[in-house]
Amino acid sequence: MINQVPTICPYCGTGCSVHLIVQDGKITGTTPNIRSPVNEGKLCPKGTYCHQFIHSPDRLKKPLIRKGDVFVETDWETVYHLIAQKLTTYSADEIGVLASARCSNEDNYVLMKFARGVLKTNNLDHCARFCHEATMTGLTLSFGRGVMTNSIPDIGRSDCIFCLGSNTFEQHPLIGRQIVRAQAAGGRFIYADPRYTPTAIQADLFLQFYSGSDVAVLNCIMGEIIRNGLEDKDFIRSRTREYESLKKLVLQNRYTPQEVSILTGVSKTDLIRAAEWIGSADRCTVLYAMGLSHLSGGVHNVRAIANLMMLTGNIGRPGTGVNALRGQNNVQGACDMGCLPDFFPGYKPVTDGNFHQKIARTWKFPENIAPARPGLDMNRMFQKAGESSNRIKAMILVGENPLVTEPDRHIVEHAIKNLKFLVVSDIFFTKTCEYAHVVLPAACYAEKDGTVTNTERRVQRLRKAVEAPVLAKPDWQIITEIACLMGYEKQFPYQHPSDIFREITTVCEPYQGMTFERVSLPDGICWPCVSADDPGTAILYSDRFYHPDGKGVFCPVEWKAPAELPDSRYPFRLTSGRVIWHWHTGTMTRRSKNLTDELNEVYIEVHPSDAEKVRISDGDMIQVRSRKGELSCRARVVSDIKEGMIFMPSLFDAALNRLMGLSESGPGFSEYKPICVSLEPVGGG
Ligand code: SF4
Repeated sequence: MINQVPTICPYCGTGCSVHLIVQDGKITGTTPNIRSPVNEGKLCPKGTYCHQFIHSPDRLKKPLIRKGDVFVETDWETVYHLIAQKLTTYSADEIGVLASARCSNEDNYVLMKFARGVLKTNNLDHCARFCHEATMTGLTLSFGRGVMTNSIPDIGRSDCIFCLGSNTFEQHPLIGRQIVRAQAAGGRFIYADPRYTPTAIQADLFLQFYSGSDVAVLNCIMGEIIRNGLEDKDFIRSRTREYESLKKLVLQNRYTPQEVSILTGVSKTDLIRAAEWIGSADRCTVLYAMGLSHLSGGVHNVRAIANLMMLTGNIGRPGTGVNALRGQNNVQGACDMGCLPDFFPGYKPVTDGNFHQKIARTWKFPENIAPARPGLDMNRMFQKAGESSNRIKAMILVGENPLVTEPDRHIVEHAIKNLKFLVVSDIFFTKTCEYAHVVLPAACYAEKDGTVTNTERRVQRLRKAVEAPVLAKPDWQIITEIACLMGYEKQFPYQHPSDIFREITTVCEPYQGMTFERVSLPDGICWPCVSADDPGTAILYSDRFYHPDGKGVFCPVEWKAPAELPDSRYPFRLTSGRVIWHWHTGTMTRRSKNLTDELNEVYIEVHPSDAEKVRISDGDMIQVRSRKGELSCRARVVSDIKEGMIFMPSLFDAALNRLMGLSESGPGFSEYKPICVSLEPVGGG
């Protein structure tokens, strides 16, 4: 018998709806869901083959316990007792917990409650720390909420789309489709990037700039808009504050098209044209992703974008907005669920005494929950784990592979090796699992019910299509069972994810009008949804921002040189990004035959003039060295990249993070790009 089960693609934050085709207990194919407003019956290659890893023979099937240098299979009871016993030997300050942007809202909520209620710690975080921390911080300061302002379908209603720091057509292809839709209706598409990407091919105006010069470009465009009287004076007067300080800054000589052209490599004419198109558009929207937020100056970049959209009155209406494209399928949800060291669900600060009491009353733990002070973020957890005293001694990692994904592999590797007790729950045996004391087999997206929240704040349903392999279980169930063994049956009474979702709606304010049944409908619901008859909110800030006075806040931001600059030893600037065929470290996509047939090896792109300088040819193996580390991979010599820049996809275990470091210019921020590197043929040429 053949069955079709509707659920959500496990990859990017677009959150496309798919049907998994189930035959005799196995998933044999994927088709797009035509009823979804997100993808309207279309899928990208990753989504088309999103079933191919599910029945991989490499799936983790039973719990594993380390015995010396080897892992031994065991049963759940044995491993639960070991975890419960070990966790009670460490104090709250000695334990760190990492949640996952790939797990469901219910998995993340239960883990968050376990950390704060059972372990009494706010040392809780997930990968949003690295991808969009700048968005959360920057947009919260400007608008009051650190999220995408408009919906995905709304992008297609723009008459001018300005995209920077995002290779949308490869990373969020079904959002790229909305750009094409806007262009078909007469809209213009401006794209800024150091590479001539597949997204650049679609652009009406391409600004090929040096990585790290975003703020200079944005300030220049704003200066030109003001000089030509194209700012939205009514919007500025009635909806914002601090405008004069912005105006003074962007009108400085250093931001004239002449000066910025020298700094960024973009022609003066193109800068002026971009300003004219944006300033004269009725409905302009900005799209950006990690090209903007993945670096130590990320908050400034985000605030500069918010400035531009407020300056032109492009907030709170259809076809406008600041649209941060989130990476993972549930990174928005993991943030919403409070898997952060400083926020409870719904972005209530842990320092908010009233909310702290409310959540303690709701949860009814016999003892106090974690104190009303922020815990350690992921960077600090790893730093503390690597110290010799006063340190993090035990960690629980759910669906995270930090050894490959986090900046500065050296710090993470040292920290993980230094832990006394490491629990990793995952669907495959990752690099990080190699250092674990306990490895737990988790159910994947197709083996559990629940909800996920996509980049546009749309809460949608995951549906179980098949059984998990052998002993594997959903993470919410694993955590619930450990909590019950530790004596917290009353606090963790969950039989099904719908029980958890019901509780989420009582403590996560933006979800309070939702029910499991309502989000099960094909459209899902965009938060905030405040009551049972509220259809949700596709466009934020229609009449006021989330600040107490309702105003948006301009913030003058000076351009600063990137933390790393080229010199004679490291003459090239390396930037990174995604490709359409694979997803991050490739744990899932590299087990998909159709995707690995397209690409199965990491590479580096070099401009022909640079290749000539370092005596390498297309296809050569090259050594890439940064101030932090080195790696080798194959070269692709292409003219799509700007001269002096190098591109490497952040894929696979090649571990780009061997070359990176944590930012030295601001605590908590990561320095993913640009990194300065040298190149030479393997063997010295
Ligand atoms: Fe999946 Fe993203 Fe592709 Fe949609 S665009 S099918 S969510 S990877």
